[in-house]
Parts: sequence; C-alpha cells; structure tokens
Amino acid sequence: MGNPIQTDALIIGAGPVGLFAVFELGLLNLNCHVIDILNKPGGQCAQLYPEKPIYDIPAYPVITGQDLTENLLKQVKPFSPIFHHEQLADKIRKQKNGNWLVETDKGLVFDVKAVVVAAGGGSFEPKKPNIQDLDKYSKSIRYSIDRVDHFKNKDIVILGGGDSALDWTLQLYDIAKSLTLVHRRDKFRGAPATVEKVMGLRDAGKIQFHVGQVNEIIGSDGNLTAVKCVKENKILDLPCDILMPFFGLTMSLGPVDKWGIDLSDERIVVSTETFETSIPGIYAVGDINTYPGKLKLILSGFHEAALMAHAVFKRINPDEKHTLQYTTTSSSLQKKLLNQ
Ligand SMILES: Cc1cc2nc3c(=O)[nH]c(=O)nc-3n(C[C@H](O)[C@H](O)[C@H](O)COP(=O)(O)OP(=O)(O)OC[C@H]3O[C@@H](n4cnc5c(N)ncnc54)[C@H](O)[C@@H]3O)c2cc1C
Repeated sequence: MGNPIQTDALIIGAGPVGLFAVFELGLLNLNCHVIDILNKPGGQCAQLYPEKPIYDIPAYPVITGQDLTENLLKQVKPFSPIFHHEQLADKIRKQKNGNWLVETDKGLVFDVKAVVVAAGGGSFEPKKPNIQDLDKYSKSIRYSIDRVDHFKNKDIVILGGGDSALDWTLQLYDIAKSLTLVHRRDKFRGAPATVEKVMGLRDAGKIQFHVGQVNEIIGSDGNLTAVKCVKENKILDLPCDILMPFFGLTMSLGPVDKWGIDLSDERIVVSTETFETSIPGIYAVGDINTYPGKLKLILSGFHEAALMAHAVFKRINPDEKHTLQYTTTSSSLQKKLLNQ
C-alpha cells in the first residue's frame, strides 16, 4: 500500500452532483480529491447524454449534458480539486483517529476526514459480449485503454459501431500490426465525420472491416491468438492478440453495498438534514441516496450538496462557530472565485 493521500473530503463520483459538492465544500475552505471509475468527469450527463438538452437547471433555459459538465468544472476550478480517473472506490475502513481510509481498485489510498459518496446509479460497467470462455482470456480483452503503447504491433479486433469503437479504431490503427473492426451492421452510431474517416481507412486498406459477429475466441494459457467471425454464413478466422468489445455500459451498484452502509432498494439511506448515512462521517448525495420524497434530479443533488457541505464542516470543526456567508457579500470568497 502506497502512502495515503491526505485531504479533508474524498468525493466518490465526478458526476454533476459530485462536482457541485466540490464547490460547496470549497466555499467552506474544505479541500477535496475526487475519484471516478470513468476516464472523464460528468457522470451520466457526459457519458449517457452529452448532446441532449436539459431544461430544468435553474437559470439555464436549456443546456446540454456536456456544457453543464464544462460549466461545473469551471465553477470548481478556484478550489483546485484533484481528480483521479479510472479509479473505482473499492474499500472503506475507519481509523482510530476517526478518519477514513479509502482504497481504490488500482491501489490508490486516501486518508480523509469525510467521505462523500456521489456515485449516482453506481459504477458504469462495460457490457460484455456473449462469447464462451471470455473470462478465461480476460488479460487479452480490453474495455478501455490505459496505455496506448500496450497495443503496439498487436493484432487488434474491435467490436461495435458506436463512438468508442470508431474513436479507438482511429487512434490505434497505425501502431497496431493489424486492426479489424467488426460490427453487426454497416450503419454506425458514431459522429458522421468519424464514420467517414474510418471508412476512408478501410478503403485505403489500412484496416479491415467486416459486417458480422464474433462468436468464438481461440488461444492458449489465457492469451488470445484468433477470433472466429460469422459473416454472411461464412466463418472468418481473424488474427487477434487483443479483443476490444465496445457494446456500451450498464450501471450497477458496484462495491457500495459491501461498505456496511444502510441501503434501501439499492440506494443509500440518508438524513435530509445532513445527508449523512448510517455511518457517521460518510455522506451520500445525488442519485445514489434515498429519503422520503427523493427526486432523482440534478437540481435536488445540488441542494443536497450544500447541506452536506455544512454538515461536513461542523463535523471537521466541531468547536468553530460557522455563519452562512453569501458569495455576493463575502469579500474573501469573491476574491477566490474571481481569481479563477
Ligand atoms: C437520458 C437521461 C436524461 C436525463 N435528463 C435529465 C434532466 O433533463 N434533468 C435532470 O435533472 N436529470 C436528468 N437525468 C438524471 C441525471 O442525469 C442524474 O440525476 C444525475 O446525473 C445524477 O448525478 P450524480 O452526480 O448523482 O450521479 P451520476 O451522474 O450517475 O455520476 C456518478 C458518478 O460516480 C461514478 N462512480 C460510481 N460508483 C463509483 C465508485 N465505486 N468509484 C468511483 N466512481 C464511481 C460513476 O462512474 C459516475 O461518473 C437524466 C438521466 C438520463 C440517463
């Protein structure tokens, strides 16, 4: 275990509510680190509907999921939060001094005074293709890309027809030994300009493209060597060191249910006064929580973040008298917010 990263609050989830929680905690001079399993901030807004207009964010008659995310990132910038992406909060345990140690699946450890769970619908997990023995070859199967040089001189097969499949085809084709894209139809769901570029690579013979379905994988000792692709009743053997299925994401509660927090219907039960969970020092805001009358809306999550931040402040500074300051009238806050 590496040296723990120390900070006031760790926010689990960089969705819109996790981002606004950074702002509310920042107003009270509390520092945050933020972790998210995804490779970018914005949660559902950025991952599931970046282009969709949202009409119920106060003072924005209309704003897209992506623009909302970018505005929130701009809003939290004065508080310099530190983001750690592609990190799943896995284990939480209490220390003797009352702090929490939170460990991620990649071994990062945080030593924090408060944990704020803003995990939305839970963790996004890749949809796996229905192919026999898939798990036996897990080291040859990638659902995301950490280091591009792992793909150098490899025979790569990419499955899918959405943005991820197309973007990674463009990114990897010139370092791979061979790259084959397989999609069940000849229509793609990606941006038209990206589809055009991928088809250009196919026409130039730089990648292979097959309309078909991979239904069998072949290899030994956990390493893939080839896949079988059914194409118009014929079976093609495609060389394959790395298989990359991009069939979208599903949401599941993930490790949240093993942290010992009271849940109801797979949601974390909270006090509506403090947004604290059944475990003191662990708070939950946004879609992940539940209480009588809960509405799963971004707007509700923003309100919850403000009350949570004041409760965290009181917990961390039990002897300090705290008075609510308006951002419009506090000169120290204004200075900080204007210097972004
Ligand atoms: C198609 C669609 C349209 C919508 N339209 C609207 C709308 O018009 N107005 C509105 O108010 N709401 C809308 N919503 C709902 C809105 O998107 C959610 O209420 C909002 O995203 C909740 O924000 P959140 O930050 O709580 O969670 P999320 O946005 O779900 O973000 C949670 C984040 O936590 C991360 N995470 C989860 N578990 C872990 C873990 N263990 N470790 C690390 N990271 C983790 C996830 O990767 C994710 O990034 C819509 C939702 C959908 C799907």
